[in-house]
Amino acid sequence: MVYNSLSGKKEVFEPLNPPFVGMYVCGPTVYSDVHLGNVRTFVSFDVIYRYLLHLGYKVRYVRNITDVGHLENDADEGEDKIGKKARLENLEPMEIAQRYANGFHEVLQQFNLLPPSIEPAATGHIVEQIAMAQKLLDNGLAYEVNGSVYFDVTKYNQNHHYGKLSKRNIEEMMESGRELAAQDEKRNPIDFALWKKASPVHIMRWPSPWGEGFPGWHLECSVMGQKYLGETFDIHGGGMDLKFPHHECEIAQSVGAYGKDPVRYWLHTNMLTVNGQKMSKSLGNSFLPHELFAGSHPLLDEAYSPMTVKFFMLQSHYSSTLDFSNEALKAARKGYKRMINGLRVIRKMTWQDDDGQPNEALQNQVEKQIAACTSAMNDDFNTALTIGQLFNLLKKINSLHSGQLKFGELGEDLFNRLKQTYMTFVEDILGLIEEKPAGFDELVEALMTLYREAKHAKDWPRVDEIRAALKENGVVVKDMKDKIDWAYDES
Ligand code: AMP
Ligand code: ZN
Repeated sequence: MVYNSLSGKKEVFEPLNPPFVGMYVCGPTVYSDVHLGNVRTFVSFDVIYRYLLHLGYKVRYVRNITDVGHLENDADEGEDKIGKKARLENLEPMEIAQRYANGFHEVLQQFNLLPPSIEPAATGHIVEQIAMAQKLLDNGLAYEVNGSVYFDVTKYNQNHHYGKLSKRNIEEMMESGRELAAQDEKRNPIDFALWKKASPVHIMRWPSPWGEGFPGWHLECSVMGQKYLGETFDIHGGGMDLKFPHHECEIAQSVGAYGKDPVRYWLHTNMLTVNGQKMSKSLGNSFLPHELFAGSHPLLDEAYSPMTVKFFMLQSHYSSTLDFSNEALKAARKGYKRMINGLRVIRKMTWQDDDGQPNEALQNQVEKQIAACTSAMNDDFNTALTIGQLFNLLKKINSLHSGQLKFGELGEDLFNRLKQTYMTFVEDILGLIEEKPAGFDELVEALMTLYREAKHAKDWPRVDEIRAALKENGVVVKDMKDKIDWAYDES
């Protein structure tokens, strides 16, 4: 089941052309570093992408780069965000776009996100954007004024519902927008730009049938979605803040141009907040990922690693708000370490033919826990519930490891499915990986050898010394009945 923002309910997910799935996620406007709020949205869609792949769908995942047309103000006013930065730094706009696109990729790699199938840039699709604006003019749903082209919302709304995604109605919108735009060249303040005439100082400009100008922000996603995924495709996503005006305008443009609803399932992620307020660059409450990794922001008690931060995000459902706090991150670090310790253990564990007798009640319980991981993800990609179910499986893994639970109680087939489920969900679906510095394995192995030797020689002061050295490297020794192992420190 998938929660569709358009219908406002959970729906069974049925792709248009199975096994193919088209998914479009609005990418960043590359005029500044991505902050942790932006990362949350991309982490959420990465898990959705990974899960659809896991289910066997052939997903074409398009995530665009907005490198033109996003003005400072959503009402089509102000400077282009990238153009402004280029002017202030005396650089080419494409230098700005490249710098922040590179930074964006680096950050997503640190969080172990998969790259999209196609990452188109708005500036690479100017010709198509002009063509779509022209089509809307031809269809009588747009008008030209003084070298700019605007979408005629009132006209569109005569036959369609402008506001159906964001659950607004045009009368209210007209009411609230009236005063602001007295001297506007638009026929109506709620109309939006498809193409804007470039003023003499505007740097980013292209020739068009209406003179030199640049595309409106919403047009790129309609054009690139249609070009790479078709006139109607399966999933379109982004943060909640994009529902209006961005996605509402996209629907109007596509319906106006092609006469079809562009998207079957609209998915919107909720906001990462700080003290209850949306994290945003303009509010000045945003952290950059590298500030988190270094613990260098005044709101941070200490540094947190990428996987800790990712685990923190996955512990909530994508449609709930998630409030940042040091306490929550510290708890997430423990959870992440626990989960990765389980991964280390299960990876090495193989079936053993011990003297355990089949325990039907236990087998039923584990069967249910395995099935629950899938049900949780099938329930609108509920990563929070999934993590809870994985911790249930982890208890069994740890009991097998310590010898409390015998392999024979589970049976070989169930053991193998338990192992497969845990590994697949942690690594392939949630995309969590073991974080360790270079040379870590060698160091720990060397210390563990010394530890075993010291223990064998009953040199207890040396045992304590080595134990302390391991602890300093984030490792605790596990002395078990018949073996010695280590684990990441969960404290
Ligand atoms: P932008 O570059 O501002 O267009 O943002 C890129 C993506 O991040 C969009 O999908 C936004 O909706 C999303 N986003 C922005 N702020 C937040 C936040 N505080 N929490 C979650 N997602 C956000
Ligand atoms: Zn978009």
